[in-house]
Amino acid sequence: MTDPLLDTLRAIVGAAHVLDVAADMAPFLNDWRGRYHGNARAVVRPHDAVELARVVAACAAAGVPMVPQGGNTGLCGGATPLADGAAVVISLARLNHIRAIDADNDTLTVEAGCTLAAVQEAAAAAGRMFPLALASEGSCMIGGNLSTNAGGVQVLRYGNMRELVLGLEVVLPDGRVWDGLRGLRKDNTGYDLKQLFIGAEGTLGIVTAAVLKLFPAVRSRATAWVAVPDPAAAVRLLGLLRADCGERVSAFEIVGRAALELVLQHIPGARDPLAGTSAWTVLVELSDPAADAPLTAQLEAALTAAFDKGLASDAALAASAAQAQALWALREKISEAQRVEGISIKHDVSVPLSRIPEFLARAGRALAQRWPDVRVVAFGHIGDGNLPTTLASLRSAGRSTASCMTWCASSGARSRPSTGSGSSSATRSCTTRRRWRSS
Ligand SMILES: Cc1cc2nc3c(=O)[nH]c(=O)nc-3n(C[C@H](O)[C@H](O)[C@H](O)COP(=O)(O)OP(=O)(O)OC[C@H]3O[C@@H](n4cnc5c(N)ncnc54)[C@H](O)[C@@H]3O)c2cc1C
Repeated sequence: MTDPLLDTLRAIVGAAHVLDVAADMAPFLNDWRGRYHGNARAVVRPHDAVELARVVAACAAAGVPMVPQGGNTGLCGGATPLADGAAVVISLARLNHIRAIDADNDTLTVEAGCTLAAVQEAAAAAGRMFPLALASEGSCMIGGNLSTNAGGVQVLRYGNMRELVLGLEVVLPDGRVWDGLRGLRKDNTGYDLKQLFIGAEGTLGIVTAAVLKLFPAVRSRATAWVAVPDPAAAVRLLGLLRADCGERVSAFEIVGRAALELVLQHIPGARDPLAGTSAWTVLVELSDPAADAPLTAQLEAALTAAFDKGLASDAALAASAAQAQALWALREKISEAQRVEGISIKHDVSVPLSRIPEFLARAGRALAQRWPDVRVVAFGHIGDGNLPTTLASLRSAGRSTASCMTWCASSGARSRPSTGSGSSSATRSCTTRRRWRSS
């Protein structure tokens, strides 16, 4: 039986780019963790913004829901269509061109389907840096990064996606194109409409291109893995580092023992850099555009002061790029190790930095009281108050999510729940990747 809408879509993008066979659609219908499964009338893969606008107009005219999809790494099911099969999935993957680079203006104009890694590479080729960095950077796409207001490991220095964009091009829900593709740092012509689309997860339109801010390339780094007595000490250590090293503090990640143990157990080659079994560790990185910046000496001095103040008990400083990469792997492989482990409930929790120790203590206590067998796997971007805390080994997953959400509401924390099985049966793989920018 022919489907008039699909015939129209084929006429727009070409028959090869309208998928309606179950096996072809499968990678687009299941999320990264294999937790969410949906159905779709078709998966459409437009080549550019003009095609995409016509696809949206055709779906809107037919009253058919649309689900935009980038790299499908979002973890919350936002890119997975509902099970009723009514929606058309619109994949951005073919809108993957770097449209322009303006080194003098420190901007890069890219299409929404460029992977984050490709954008980082384009910036590096121009002698600049695009600072958004996530463990999913080999797979996630700029449109998805914008639509989730992605953060990552360098937010404390460069800000999250909302702060890294100067202009957007968006296809609106009726198929019109909103052209806000400007590269102005000061734009006082009126409302900042682009901000409405950032973090909107496709509800107000589909992002097709963006003007991104570039920064000076980093030419020297110092990286350390530091044992701290508790999260309160970690917060104070960050304050000390910032006081001593200022803007050079580019990453500050906390890793609880349970998270580290998962990586040591499930990731081949992973090794604990410290001899003890500290309950809490932090990954610290200083970076600078100057090739000869004395970062190692500066970090050593700051850590010595931290030892004297009782804010740190042990530390390992990377002596080479390979060692730094191994330290980063301990942090970035946590999600992968969790997938191997099995059932888990993930929350992307944001708390004011000053209240993180209280959050971890109160949430941990409340959960242990209610579910004695719960394991709280706490880790994340403590530098910007964002912890993708996970609950694992639960008998009653749904109810503990509700409990954690209740706590978040009463404490002023913000949490995006992504309850999941964490099974390893995902049909689409996510390329995790971290490159060392050599000094
Ligand atoms: C190992 C791992 C580590 C991660 N680490 C982090 C982290 O540190 N920080 C962080 O913030 N996130 C992190 N994430 C989550 C995820 O990678 C980010 O949210 C990423 O920005 C999603 O991009 P994506 O292209 O995969 O989007 P998708 O998953 O495809 O989509 C996400 C949402 O955006 C919508 N969308 C996608 N493209 C568009 C578009 N062009 N226009 C409009 N709407 C669109 C989708 O409909 C969906 O609602 C991690 C994920 C993994 C698997």
